[in-house]
Amino acid sequence: MSKKRTKRSGTAGKRLLALLITLLCAFATYLSGGASQPFEVHFIDVGQADCALVIADGKTMLIDGGEIGAGPRIIDYLRTHGVQKLDVLIATHPHSDHIGGLPYVVENMEVTRAYLSPYVHTSATYEQLLDDLAKKKVATSVPEIGETFSLGSADCRVISNGAGFDDANDASIILRVAYGDTSVLFTGDAEVPAEEAALASGMNLRSTILKVGHHGSETSSSQAFLDAVDPEIAVISCGKDNSYGHPHAVTLKKLTCEVHRTDKEGSVVLVSDGTTVTARGEVPVFKIYIGNWQNKKLHLVGCRYMPSFENMDFFWKRSMAIDAGYEPCGSCKP
Ligand SMILES: [Zn+2]
Ligand SMILES: [Zn+2]
Repeated sequence: MSKKRTKRSGTAGKRLLALLITLLCAFATYLSGGASQPFEVHFIDVGQADCALVIADGKTMLIDGGEIGAGPRIIDYLRTHGVQKLDVLIATHPHSDHIGGLPYVVENMEVTRAYLSPYVHTSATYEQLLDDLAKKKVATSVPEIGETFSLGSADCRVISNGAGFDDANDASIILRVAYGDTSVLFTGDAEVPAEEAALASGMNLRSTILKVGHHGSETSSSQAFLDAVDPEIAVISCGKDNSYGHPHAVTLKKLTCEVHRTDKEGSVVLVSDGTTVTARGEVPVFKIYIGNWQNKKLHLVGCRYMPSFENMDFFWKRSMAIDAGYEPCGSCKP
């Protein structure tokens, strides 16, 4: 009798759990589905470093990848936002706060094409990135100055490819991305000499959004450059209480537009319909990862290979499951 009762309550518990998971999934779909726009720029909070994701009509581009150790956080962010593949990867220049997490990203996500600055660097992380790009057969090149490529219906133009500078920061790739009447200028760590070269190129720098050069340092963002870009929105990617004192008070004073900072807001998300850019902030996207503790495979809810309830392990973060020894399922690709 008591045995029977235990069995019955177990079944009820499972039903309740199934219902709960279904509701959570519906909520997650509502959150992510309701918020997506044709053009999004995510300045992902990676502390005192740079990492930006551009999504245009479903095509994706990652510009820089944080410090060493940021890889799992970036992959988590990408997967959570529905990114399964990167069409373009750009490493603006080989400093560790820009390429640190990229080897992990390349090892854990399909990348079609990569653009690198020609600046030669001999750090282990940089060598690892080159090795990984070669191993994964990613088409890798130094872009030409003025080269254009499309990302969905967005037009990308290489303002500077980083060639001809002795300083690694000035050797940053500068990229302007235009979507309809709106645009974004990515500057990496370009400082005043690189800004002067960009101005001298005669190319159109005017942009709705400016990723402020070198984390808002005073060695970047000359008045002439800011006048030419004339941004409506400036974004500074830097870490809370960082030892460099970024962003500099002088730079902040010069930015007379709307300013967003990753050290204050966390990840900054800006969306465009081709006419207007609006700041959305990071929308918490809810996902549950389900592991099968019997075979150590990790699944997304709804995968046809989901384990039975007895064999389920639950994770709120993909990285937690990977750390616990789980391997992503080849079908649902969590
Ligand atoms: Zn930097
Ligand atoms: Zn740098």
